[in-house]
Amino acid sequence: MTVERTLSIIKPDATRRNLTGAVNKCFEDAGLRIVAQKRIKLSKSQAEDFYAVHKERPFYSDLCDFMTSGPVVVQVLEGENAIAKNREVMGATNPDDAAEGTIRKLFAENVEANSVHGSDSAENAAMEIKFYFKDDEIVG
Ligand code: ADP
Ligand code: MG
Repeated sequence: MTVERTLSIIKPDATRRNLTGAVNKCFEDAGLRIVAQKRIKLSKSQAEDFYAVHKERPFYSDLCDFMTSGPVVVQVLEGENAIAKNREVMGATNPDDAAEGTIRKLFAENVEANSVHGSDSAENAAMEIKFYFKDDEIVG
């Protein structure tokens, strides 16, 4: 049993359609606790830094434009095996490949505007949480 924290982002396609509560319900129904949350507008340079790992990918520039196209909700989710659990609740990157009942199957518009981000490893979760939150902004 390992209680973990992971970084989640509700992306602009979801905030635009007023789906913050619907997405959060998926997390809470799966046993994940939202222990920090804020609605922000990313700057271009913040989006570029956050997604720097993808800078050689053909979709990088479009992805940074998309992530700055409207508000996002950044959040820390806590729970047992939270990193893998969140990836499971999110579903596959491309909603066409996502399992029934997952957030991306339910809500994503396409492979880019896919409603949520979630950290993919313990190392990235720690880095990504630090990117958006100070320690005293996280209350478990
Ligand atoms: P995930 O978000 O599932 O971890 P990746 O880390 O591979 O997926 O990609 C980061 C984000 O880049 C995706 O969530 C999606 O918004 C976007 N993306 C990934 N692949 C593509 C693609 N082929 N075309 C356009 N955008 C993409
Ligand atoms: Mg990823």
